[in-house]
Amino acid sequence: MDLFSNSSVYNFSKDNVPALRVKAPATLDIETLDCFSNQLRNPEDTIEQLDWDRINPATGPVYIEGAEPGDALKVTVNRIDLNEKGTVCCLENEGVLGHLFKGSHIRVAPVKDGYVHYLDLKIPVKKMIGVIGVAPAGDPVSNGTPGPHGGNMDTLMITEGATIYFPIFAPGALFALGDCHAVMGDGEIGVSGLEIPAKINVTLEVVKGKAPKYPILEDKESFAIIVSKPTVDEAIAHATELMCEFLEQRLTSYTRPEIVMLMSLTGDVRISQVVDPEKTVRFVFPKKYAAGAEF
Ligand code: CA
Ligand code: ZN
Repeated sequence: MDLFSNSSVYNFSKDNVPALRVKAPATLDIETLDCFSNQLRNPEDTIEQLDWDRINPATGPVYIEGAEPGDALKVTVNRIDLNEKGTVCCLENEGVLGHLFKGSHIRVAPVKDGYVHYLDLKIPVKKMIGVIGVAPAGDPVSNGTPGPHGGNMDTLMITEGATIYFPIFAPGALFALGDCHAVMGDGEIGVSGLEIPAKINVTLEVVKGKAPKYPILEDKESFAIIVSKPTVDEAIAHATELMCEFLEQRLTSYTRPEIVMLMSLTGDVRISQVVDPEKTVRFVFPKKYAAGAEF
């Protein structure tokens, strides 16, 4: 293990002291706590016992030598190894349906043989990383909040095999990650996925001078631009504009209206989460209609 979960931070900040310094490209094993700092691991645990000062830890930060503002940090998620059980919660007056029930509730669910065993149901595991990013440009940003720097994007596509390009705002980038989920639905409507400790293997590289405006994800099938804004409407508008710009720079034989029509025919607006202080949306474009396009 290169980085244990006792090196954790609760915000992304250019002033955070690095837990580790690496030269890029670097491949690391990083251990993460769940979003409750592993405080709710047993069925008899309650939200009332929670120390709220230890919510949403991210392991890090990692200082990448030579990473400068204006560069992109390229993060490839090679592997996510989940713990054997996770915790889901819902809280009165939190999330989309919090006005419909009383009190705080948790359920602990075993994760075994590729399934989450929730109540009497078997739900196929869909591993993902909720919090991942770099230090922002200005003031520190709590790990609960997503933004141009990444953070709490709670996006299903951030999983094994995905590569995410982050804009770098501070020397060394100060990369950190945490908040893994064994499964979550788009929207995360009840405020949590199946929150679970994990070990994550990532490769960190620097792409000089190519900072995107918001995180851009690439996997086998797609490019996705992940935008967080105070409302879903604003996030959709901006993610769509950024994808149009991204495609225009790469599919140079098409006019802008042709690209808009192509996006309308083949691209998807997808909701990542609607329960954090800023809402996260992704515009997903299939790579097969952007032959040869690269980040
Ligand atoms: Ca989260
Ligand atoms: Zn989470």
